[in-house]
Amino acid sequence: MKRALITGITGQDGSYLTEHLLSLGYDVFGLVRRNPEGVSWMQPLANKVTFIYGDMRDPLSLAAAFQKADPDEVYNLAAQVFIPTSWVVPEETFNVNVGGLARLLYIIERTKPNTRIYQASSSEMYGNIGGILTEESAFAPKSPYGVSKLAAHELCRVYREKGMYVVSGILFNHESPRRGPEMVTRKITRAVAGWIKGDRTKLKLGNLDSRRDWGFAGDYVKAMHLMLQQPKAQDFVIGTGESHSVREFVAEALNSIKFVGSVEDFVEVDPQFVRKNEIHNLVGNPRKAQQELGWSTVIDFPELVKMMIEADLGA
Ligand code: NAP
Repeated sequence: MKRALITGITGQDGSYLTEHLLSLGYDVFGLVRRNPEGVSWMQPLANKVTFIYGDMRDPLSLAAAFQKADPDEVYNLAAQVFIPTSWVVPEETFNVNVGGLARLLYIIERTKPNTRIYQASSSEMYGNIGGILTEESAFAPKSPYGVSKLAAHELCRVYREKGMYVVSGILFNHESPRRGPEMVTRKITRAVAGWIKGDRTKLKLGNLDSRRDWGFAGDYVKAMHLMLQQPKAQDFVIGTGESHSVREFVAEALNSIKFVGSVEDFVEVDPQFVRKNEIHNLVGNPRKAQQELGWSTVIDFPELVKMMIEADLGA
């Protein structure tokens, strides 16, 4: 039975990845900072996973977690993920997102260097380079979060060049009912569910014209696993190949509830949410992952939006 250690196990991706690895027969260990049973979707997993208390900022806890898990594969998903927060606490963002990875790599290189490591890189590393982005595209991040992800991405490359099996999945935005409530997609689906329940407060958002490549997290975690099963360690872009604007996301959500009216009847642009260093459009080319991993998406954009609204209606 293969053993996997997941950092960030309580998060959106960590929880879907756990379900996927358990379905494949893995023995799963997860790093947690607090009792994971406080997170609703972790409750069904509580008896199936070994939770280990630790923090990406604390090297001793990481060393102890690694020793206890003794993993064949490590999935490093833990991060300070919210871009506006990365402007407020840039040092903390680096400490977790870059320092945490550096600590893990240091421990792994010295204790079990044949461990396979997956790093959660991000499309935010590209900034406003533009075009349909591939593994070969240039990077020009626009936020401390993006810079931290690029530093971690590069750290993986140099360890890979030293001979360790370290891969980065450059994932474009992926969502689900488990997406953090501070993220724009979840703000929209929660507001739409609230509207159905009778709340007529207008939703306040930033730039409605910014475009993202949105996929379903449950599809994307399968790519993470596939990347670690390849004979050669290499990076992959994971996206859907199409982008939608925030306005289109709102329109799709309203359409799914047969809302009578326009996007502007439902949303108000609030300058406090308009980002100065906005990334205008992100779209990833998943061709390499499709060809070499045999990976593809199952849930499309309308299904994703509908799934999130239905979950928020039940909440
Ligand atoms: P998420 O739901 O916010 O989960 C983040 C996880 O990191 C949580 O389990 C959190 O634990 C943990 N964490 C944060 N700080 C920690 C620390 N100091 N020590 C230990 N654990 C810590 O994020 P996600 O959407 O699943 O994203 C997973 C990874 O993919 C992240 O690295 C993110 O940057 C990257 N990524 C995500 C996307 C996307 O669209 N979702 C796209 C590209 C890349 P607590 O519960 O204790 O806070």
